[in-house]
Amino acid sequence: MKKQCYPFELFKLPYAFDALEPHIDTKTMELHHNRHLKTYTDKLNAALKPFHEFHNWSLERLLCNINILPVKLRNDIRNNGGGVFNHIYYFSGLSPAEPAESRKFGGNLGNKIDKLFGGWDKFKAKFKESALEVFGSGYLWLVADRRGHLKILHTENQDSPITRGFCPIMCIDVWEHAYYLKHYNVRADYIDDWFAVLNAKFAEENYLCCIR
Ligand code: MN
Repeated sequence: MKKQCYPFELFKLPYAFDALEPHIDTKTMELHHNRHLKTYTDKLNAALKPFHEFHNWSLERLLCNINILPVKLRNDIRNNGGGVFNHIYYFSGLSPAEPAESRKFGGNLGNKIDKLFGGWDKFKAKFKESALEVFGSGYLWLVADRRGHLKILHTENQDSPITRGFCPIMCIDVWEHAYYLKHYNVRADYIDDWFAVLNAKFAEENYLCCIR
């Protein structure tokens, strides 16, 4: 992920709003990006504006060092900085129609998943079950810990795994704004649709960065 500093620009989607149809609908993508992510980005910039000493800090640096930031800035970085960071991972982790095979992790990550979970289908079932268990607003992540070990991790609201020292590989946004227009309250169907547009390459590349 390209490192940016203040003022943060609205992340550009690497595909069109309608590119994930029929799995993720155009209107949801448009609102999710143009309204939700834009609001997080604007609020992050507004919060940082008076704090000149942090204008050359990357988002990663801010999120990894929340506890040493001025108290007045901490919540904004956690919520709005996290909102920007997490959505960039979420949107980048999706990709338009491709052969079904490209939705499955390959390479080093694929091998690790096979060893740890006993195969792709078992991993999918476990990830789906965990995503269904997230109560309220949050995300479910696949991350690596400091020793490079894979872990399924739940974060609340816009908390970021990097604040807790984990290296992100991929995530699903389970806030209702991510699926309510199409899937209503049926999160299970949304999770299935999310798997159908998963960008496996993005996750594989992230994993390599995590263990480097
Ligand atoms: Mn969201």
